[in-house]
Amino acid sequence: MRLAFLVGAVAAFALGASAAAVVYPARPGDGPLLARAPTANERLAESVALRLTGKRIEVRCTSASEAPGVLGLTPFVNGKPSGYFLLMPAACRELGLFRENPARYDPSTCSDNACVEGVAVEVQALQAVAHESYHTLGYRSESTAECYGMQSLWYVARRLGASTNEAEALAGWYWGYRYPAWRTSPHPQYWSAQCRDGGALDLRPRSHGWPS
Ligand SMILES: [Zn+2]
Repeated sequence: MRLAFLVGAVAAFALGASAAAVVYPARPGDGPLLARAPTANERLAESVALRLTGKRIEVRCTSASEAPGVLGLTPFVNGKPSGYFLLMPAACRELGLFRENPARYDPSTCSDNACVEGVAVEVQALQAVAHESYHTLGYRSESTAECYGMQSLWYVARRLGASTNEAEALAGWYWGYRYPAWRTSPHPQYWSAQCRDGGALDLRPRSHGWPS
């Protein structure tokens, strides 16, 4: 399994300009991306982000990866999110494949390592959408974005066409196999002991369903 993928990275750019009400590029290179109309897949990611955050968020797929292993990026300016996030080509490719055939990535039907590896890659792309969405709410902490995102992973999967059972299985898979690996990975900032049913990062403390 490819557990080395980073879900995302927060970029800080002190440009001196204050955040405007409209989305503007936090970095000059993002201007052309934000100026073009979103694709169908980008619009779908935007609608997911709207549902998760209550905010209109611009989402664009970049044409090149920012860094090896990074799947998403939410620029911050002066400590505030800029109203958009970027998805790297690998994430966008996986999201497109998922929409074409969601059932192919149902972990409950995997019977070989190739299938499990496919699930691992796919679920990380789904998680990237949820994770970056929470960054755009102003949560800069990787462990907060990661934990809140994981609790919304099922919703991303549902919106991309998975059945409820599969969506919950994917989130459960993330919790069971991917999430614990952060703790001892080179990027332990993605992990928190408070990310659990009843923990401080539990978005639904009255429910014992976890992580969905
Ligand atoms: Zn992040």
